Amino acid sequence: MSTASRPDHYAVMGNPVAHSKSPLIHRLFAEQTGQQLQYDALLVPEDGFAQAIAIFFIRGGKGLNVTVPFKQQAWEIADELSERARPAGAVNTLMMDEQGTLFGDNTDGVGLLRDLGENLGIDVAGRNVLMLGAGGAARGVLAPLLEQRPVRLHVANRTARRATGLAAAFAAQGTLSASGLDDIPALRFDLVINATAAGLHGEVPALPAGTIGSDTWCYDMVYGTEPTAFMRYARQCGSAHTFDGLGMLVEQAAESFRLWRGITPRTAPVIAALRRQNAELVAQGE
Ligand code: NAP
Repeated sequence: MSTASRPDHYAVMGNPVAHSKSPLIHRLFAEQTGQQLQYDALLVPEDGFAQAIAIFFIRGGKGLNVTVPFKQQAWEIADELSERARPAGAVNTLMMDEQGTLFGDNTDGVGLLRDLGENLGIDVAGRNVLMLGAGGAARGVLAPLLEQRPVRLHVANRTARRATGLAAAFAAQGTLSASGLDDIPALRFDLVINATAAGLHGEVPALPAGTIGSDTWCYDMVYGTEPTAFMRYARQCGSAHTFDGLGMLVEQAAESFRLWRGITPRTAPVIAALRRQNAELVAQGE
């Protein structure tokens, strides 16, 4: 097959990456919109990200998604950053133009806000919000969350200084406080967002008693075939409203797809297809 007739090549790079649903999501977007493309999940060694990106684009790759733990590195490597990626300090979408300029964007924030607001009907305005984690995902969503004017946004992280660093960086954009996981303010939060990678290892950041109540929306950016460790923990704490990050994943992917292909796919049928697939996997005992 000649190079000209090959479908455009996209991929997600991460470590781990085998769990990623991105290849399926982009295949469904491509089918829905009649686009020809190939999308793979590429496992990249922790010290090999810069090299992997260079090889991908030298071989004619069109665009990349970036996941744990490479989003900050992607931000550093990009030649140009979007307005929303620059303050985030994290990039989840890369594309290269014909002059070889590597452009970095961050679609996590818009993905989370669309899932919260449009899919789940959660209004952040005037709410007490707790964000767990201070990695690339947390950085990417802080500014869009602050734009919604929560009454308070507290960032708590295992490594406290990373949380306080984030709070300092975003202080001008809204009411933001920060601490380690042990010093979370004694408060019943309206919305708790788990943006830690703890769930990838089945772990949960333990919270002070009373942080989560029956009305607290508990949103885990992690997703799986069954309720995540954080969702189960939140239910044990009494929350009647727990959500995984599948909707955010599909929404951020839709925004990446729009950047690469210039066309916005519909997300609801793709979210529904992934939920159906999860139910089938559970029924098959996988
Ligand atoms: P990252 O940059 O590697 O940051 C990881 C974060 O998790 C850090 O805050 C880290 O704390 C914390 N952490 C790791 N293990 C922990 C543990 N055992 N207990 C408590 N905290 C722990 O990763 P990221 O890019 O921010 O991604 C975070 C999570 O969000 C991942 O699970 C990712 O899959 C998910 N995510 C989902 C979506 C979606 O669309 N649904 C989008 C983006 C990210 P330290 O600073 O102390 O190391």
